[in-house]
Amino acid sequence: MKILITGATGQVGTQLMNILASGKSELGNIPREIENVEVIGTGSKELDISDNKKVIEFIREVKPDVVINAAAYTNVDGCEINEELAYKVNALGPKNLAIACEKIGAKLVHISTDYVFNGVGNKPFREYDHLDPQSIYGASKKMGEDFVREFSSKYFIVRPSWVYGYQGKNFVYTILKLAKENGVITVVNDQRGNPTNVEDIVHHILKLIVTEEYGIYNCSGQGECTWYDFACKIVEFANISCTVKPCTSDEYQSKVKRPAYSSLDNMMLKYTVGDEMRNWEEALRVFINNIKI
Ligand code: NDP
Repeated sequence: MKILITGATGQVGTQLMNILASGKSELGNIPREIENVEVIGTGSKELDISDNKKVIEFIREVKPDVVINAAAYTNVDGCEINEELAYKVNALGPKNLAIACEKIGAKLVHISTDYVFNGVGNKPFREYDHLDPQSIYGASKKMGEDFVREFSSKYFIVRPSWVYGYQGKNFVYTILKLAKENGVITVVNDQRGNPTNVEDIVHHILKLIVTEEYGIYNCSGQGECTWYDFACKIVEFANISCTVKPCTSDEYQSKVKRPAYSSLDNMMLKYTVGDEMRNWEEALRVFINNIKI
């Protein structure tokens, strides 16, 4: 078996490469069928997923059995300014991959996001709930999902939320830096969601690809909190002396409106390969223990 990972230099992509190479994640061994498989990872330089001709040629030549698309334009504020780029990468990219995969019969995993929902309510969103993105990032990711469903017959759409991993920029690293530099930090306390460790996402993606349980999967950490709660736990687990103060989204004055409620219910994982996503606090504690503070 051969696996192609696009966006292999990002947070999720890097950990996909690492876990496939080591054969295990923090949650346990990867499926036996994919131990020691050939893995090819590409960043945007090796394969720009928005280039339809290159994508078709590359996939025809490499002939992967599975393509995992971890590539995206993930800068939420940047997407509002560079709308065209957002749709090029987040919508046309997965479309190109879906068409190319279909031509050679490959399975396609496409990573989407909680931002496809409208962020209203207080009940975790399920896979079948109405999609109503409120930002260009969310809308471009929704269009990517739509294309994948339209052009691929062997797809897994995986939706994580509030992702942090060992590689790259994320909320955990930002809070650690700010907390070390400042005695007091202020964090938004009116947006709720599920912090998700990349290890957990990768573990479940790898469980899915050895099956034919095609479809849409929410894939987020168990339990919900606000960004303020999340920051408090980061500071506590890292044992940093810093006061974390709550504020509202209006006080924070972000350029793009973030969803007030974006908690996900991993219902489809539960009824297929099993939902082993860790509780967010437990996964965060392991992460903080594993990094140099
Ligand atoms: P990163 O921003 O860390 O990585 C993005 C990756 O995409 C990089 O490898 C980058 O390559 C690649 N990329 C960007 N543009 C292109 C392009 N045109 N062609 C090919 N590759 C490209 O993202 P994450 O790992 O955090 O996110 C992975 C997935 O998870 C994305 O689909 C994202 O939407 C989703 N997600 C992320 C969340 C988060 O909190 N981060 C939350 C929910 C979902 P290069 O370095 O070469 O530019």
